[in-house]
Amino acid sequence: MHDLVIRRGTVIDGTGGPMQAADVAIEDGRVVAVGSGVGPGHREIDAAEQLVLPGWVDIHTHYDGQATWDPEMTPSSWHGVTTAVFGNCGVGFAPVRPGTEDFLINLMEGVEDIPGTVLAEGLDFSWESYPDYLDVLASVPRVMDVGSQLPHGALRFYVMGERGADHAAVPTSAELADIERLVTEAFASGALGFSTSRTTKHKAADGRLTPSLSAGDPELAAVARAMKAAQAGVLQVNSDFGPGEFDHLRQAAELSGRPLSVLVLQVDNAPELWRETLEHVHAANAAGVEATAQVGCRPIGVMLGLDVTVNPFKNHPAYQAIAHLPTAERAARMRNDPELRRALVHDRPADSHSAWMDYALTRAFELGDDLDYEQSPDRTVAARAASVGGSPWELALDLLSEGDGDSLLLYPFENYHGGSLEEIRQMLVDPYSVCGIGDAGAHVGTICDASYPTYLLTHWARDRTRGERLPLEFLVHKQARRTAETFGLLDRGVLAPGYRADLNIVDFDALSVGRPELIWDLPAGGKRLVQKAKGYRHTFVRGIETFIDGEPTGARPGGLVRGAQADPGAPR
Ligand SMILES: [Zn+2]
Repeated sequence: MHDLVIRRGTVIDGTGGPMQAADVAIEDGRVVAVGSGVGPGHREIDAAEQLVLPGWVDIHTHYDGQATWDPEMTPSSWHGVTTAVFGNCGVGFAPVRPGTEDFLINLMEGVEDIPGTVLAEGLDFSWESYPDYLDVLASVPRVMDVGSQLPHGALRFYVMGERGADHAAVPTSAELADIERLVTEAFASGALGFSTSRTTKHKAADGRLTPSLSAGDPELAAVARAMKAAQAGVLQVNSDFGPGEFDHLRQAAELSGRPLSVLVLQVDNAPELWRETLEHVHAANAAGVEATAQVGCRPIGVMLGLDVTVNPFKNHPAYQAIAHLPTAERAARMRNDPELRRALVHDRPADSHSAWMDYALTRAFELGDDLDYEQSPDRTVAARAASVGGSPWELALDLLSEGDGDSLLLYPFENYHGGSLEEIRQMLVDPYSVCGIGDAGAHVGTICDASYPTYLLTHWARDRTRGERLPLEFLVHKQARRTAETFGLLDRGVLAPGYRADLNIVDFDALSVGRPELIWDLPAGGKRLVQKAKGYRHTFVRGIETFIDGEPTGARPGGLVRGAQADPGAPR
């Protein structure tokens, strides 16, 4: 008798192979059979007309803090994620010397927009070393598996003290030895990767550039030697990819003998650069240096609204005079007070925020109930205003003050240069790309992209009207098996005998992403932007049901994944 049998579903197994009508049997947290003629189970689920999919492996999250205080790991768990990897982009909370925690909080606040007050309240810092941090993660039962990477920023500050915060400071030979020793220690305790940030977009909350920005070859080599000795880990990099940059990273990867995984996205000031980076990724693979490109599946967008971090009107004295009012009341004043409207639209402060918003409104869309992330350029706020001879600021005011004042505009600041998702399609179909960049757990007041795994299916396999769609089997492979493989988690991402029973049963016709909404549930009453999902009927982690129709069951089968996991399907 099997523990669980899922009958009559349409199984997409994660390998990229064609979907098939099949029953799936589970025992002891593993899949034991997929096919017909499967014997009875203690529990049986009828999945007729539903998809049976491997659980999502989201490799680009920032739950470093949240994972220590939130066993439900929302919003990712609402979107069928069963494994989340964090410690990305060089930021995280270990190692840390007692008394210097504020530095890491400040860095995470600045780089990933997670409020310092939330982190200070939520984190107990009951660890110092990275292995201690992993032990704390391992001691908290939760709804999904988590994996962590050693963040360069934290390591540098731990080893070099205040000097480590200055990206231009160079480690001494004794410090390089410490770096090598601590990276070795991290991999011995189960780190999945080493992450570093080399982008000027990343600044601490105090304005300083991220500590690892310009780390030189000797420092990268110390990390690489430790990875080589450990024969473990992925070198994860978020970089601006200036001239010669990829060569430094490729050299480090070559020295380590370990895979490189870089973020690839389209930036407005160099809209073709991503193609060059992808070419480097191809060349590296051709030369035997394993490299992947983590890519998105929709525009990376800043949400504009009255209560989120970026409010077009926030610096205006007339707005500040009503800023204390409850949102709905504030919105009503903005709709109805002619003098206030005139001031907000015509007497704007001559500051950098207004200038930035002037530009943003030429790119931003209304994100209405249909949640259209691929709107044509004639739908921007500025284009719509121009079409009726109006002011973009007046239209922004009208849109944001509708109803209770919880409407949002989407300003797609990356991955949308050409006004469609054609470039994203090209990134997705690249053989070396994997799904990433959702930044779940981060940017809580500005960006709301933890819903990527759901959107990947709804938009790219079903709803897209402005261009080619992509096969479901391909998308499931990209978000489950390819992501798992990127971090050597070869025991998951596939529904076949021997693999982990991490899976979703999905009503694909009903599958949808909810409107971004603000909820006030972070520590210290902090707020965050989240999107819910519809259509995930059941989610299982290690064969145990964690969610039914969006509601948690209370089960906490998830643990900490320490290091790479063997492929149960591979010949031994
Ligand atoms: Zn990141």
